[in-house]
Amino acid sequence: MIGILALQGGVVEHAQLLRACGATVREVRTPAGLEGLDGLVLPGGESTTMTLGIAREGLAEPLRRFAASGRPLLATCAGLILLDRDHLGVLPIACERNAFGRQIRSFESDVTVAGLDDGPIRAVFIRAPRVTEIGPGPPGVEVVAEVDGAVVGVRSGAIEGYAFHPELTDDARIHERFVAAVAAAGGGARDAA
Ligand code: GLN
Repeated sequence: MIGILALQGGVVEHAQLLRACGATVREVRTPAGLEGLDGLVLPGGESTTMTLGIAREGLAEPLRRFAASGRPLLATCAGLILLDRDHLGVLPIACERNAFGRQIRSFESDVTVAGLDDGPIRAVFIRAPRVTEIGPGPPGVEVVAEVDGAVVGVRSGAIEGYAFHPELTDDARIHERFVAAVAAAGGGARDAA
């Protein structure tokens, strides 16, 4: 069972794509919602609103515990911001919000993601952040994607975060790999609810 933090933001798109990859999915709004999950998605949206919701629901510590448990965690855009030092502090990184100008419009770019074979991914950026500082760890953080010299993808063990929106394209490779990682971790992402 994979959870998607559903306080705000792009929940539905992640859910559809995860289900298309064979996973069972649950929306998470409270600490109890995290119980029994094998993997977790922190979606894009608006990180300030999500942070307020996390505080309201008492989710900060449970989310940190989930991340520290070694279960796979996929964070996109505002979700990546939530992982940084100034938010949940799950990873020793700093993010700059709206790092690609203040444009309302999105832009797309072909981005090579380390470990994803079969060529670059078509990445959709919407008021996207970039990672401006990494480390010192622990945990160690590796850069897995860059665009024009900006870090837009990081990985630390089972935690992966992207500044773009892999749930908004037809290219399901990031979600497929994530669902496979959840299953391989013994999580039975594909089990019936
Ligand atoms: N700019 C948003 C924020 O700072 C993130 C944008 C997104 O998730 N698409 O929270």
